[in-house]
Amino acid sequence: MVKGGSKKVVSEKIELFFEKLLGKTPSEIKKIKRMAMGSNVSLGTKKKLFCKKCFSAFNSGDSEIRIKKGFKLVKCKKCDNISKWKLNSS
Ligand SMILES: [Zn+2]
Repeated sequence: MVKGGSKKVVSEKIELFFEKLLGKTPSEIKKIKRMAMGSNVSLGTKKKLFCKKCFSAFNSGDSEIRIKKGFKLVKCKKCDNISKWKLNSS
């Protein structure tokens, strides 16, 4: 089975990808997510950088952020999907 490299190589690829996320297309983001899942690499906080429904990168202006009761709500302006992230109590 071809897996496209070791886990380490994959996570390095992912790091590089997200460093230059702006301008990436939804299909590229979908591909990198599939690659991460296939190699058991967790995207962690990087998951917050794109819409989990339509895979659009959240460039400035593409998302609407609201803080509500300890949650950060990020609404994707392209598909209206709302992602909910728990805020760390500090
Ligand atoms: Zn979306």
